[in-house]
Amino acid sequence: MKRIVLLTSLIAVGALTYVAAQQGGQKPMVVEVEKLKDNLFILKGGGGNTTVFVQSNGITVVDTKNPGWGAPILAKIKELSPKPVTTIINTHTHGDHVSGNVEFPTTVDIVVQENTAANMKQMRAVTGLSKPGAPPPPNIFVENQGKGLPKRTFKDRMTLFKGPDQIELYYFGRGHTNGDAWVLYPTLRVVTAGDIVSGKNLPILDANNGGSGLEIGDTIGKAHSTFSKMADTVITGHSVNMNMTELMEYATFNREFAAMAREAKKAGRSVEDVVKSYSVPAKFQGYAAAQEGRVRSNTQVIYDEIK
Ligand SMILES: [Zn+2]
Repeated sequence: MKRIVLLTSLIAVGALTYVAAQQGGQKPMVVEVEKLKDNLFILKGGGGNTTVFVQSNGITVVDTKNPGWGAPILAKIKELSPKPVTTIINTHTHGDHVSGNVEFPTTVDIVVQENTAANMKQMRAVTGLSKPGAPPPPNIFVENQGKGLPKRTFKDRMTLFKGPDQIELYYFGRGHTNGDAWVLYPTLRVVTAGDIVSGKNLPILDANNGGSGLEIGDTIGKAHSTFSKMADTVITGHSVNMNMTELMEYATFNREFAAMAREAKKAGRSVEDVVKSYSVPAKFQGYAAAQEGRVRSNTQVIYDEIK
């Protein structure tokens, strides 16, 4: 009798899962617009935040969300401006920031940091998001015969466009990955940071793609000292905007996590011990509570770096 009940409930759960998946597939793809300046918009939904910079003769798009979201981004941009998209910048290699690239016209210029260009050819699994040794998700650029891959790269600095259209690209070192680009719109005093500043939370430290828990705090600190006199607002990877004081605080938050892990390793404590004892210090107000999985993964990444 018990067995029959169990079997019946298993079938019921299976059916529910199937219905949920079907409904998921039919979910409308909603792109929400946040207007930051007259010619600068943040598109939310479908993965990482997308920045849209409307310039004199065209439009630059920073990050293009998950697979299938390129077309909804383009449709939303049409409501904002009749100008064509001329340029895509990807802040880093992750699928929720680059996959929409394949849905843009092939004429669009695509610019990334040089390590990100190398990473996008591989599209390796993300540390902490999939089980160690698990195969990476399908490579969207291979599936599209290389469409959407970067056409130009920069190492530390690059200037695009002039005057009010100007964009300054910066790379300050390893953090979320080894190719995190910071995109400054000097006339607007705004910076797009991507996932090296995903929000007020523990970041993903993607060691598989060159990320570093020992360096991320200093990298964000360098960005802060560079931008503190040039910008007022940081567009984050997945959350609401930050001001420059909050950016400095995020550098401190990451430096302190690294120092904590360093001390723990020195004291011979296990990763699991750190997972049990760590919580976000109370002085970091408005921060998300630390997820166990993230603490485990990030501590392991730092332990491996110290070795
Ligand atoms: Zn990311």
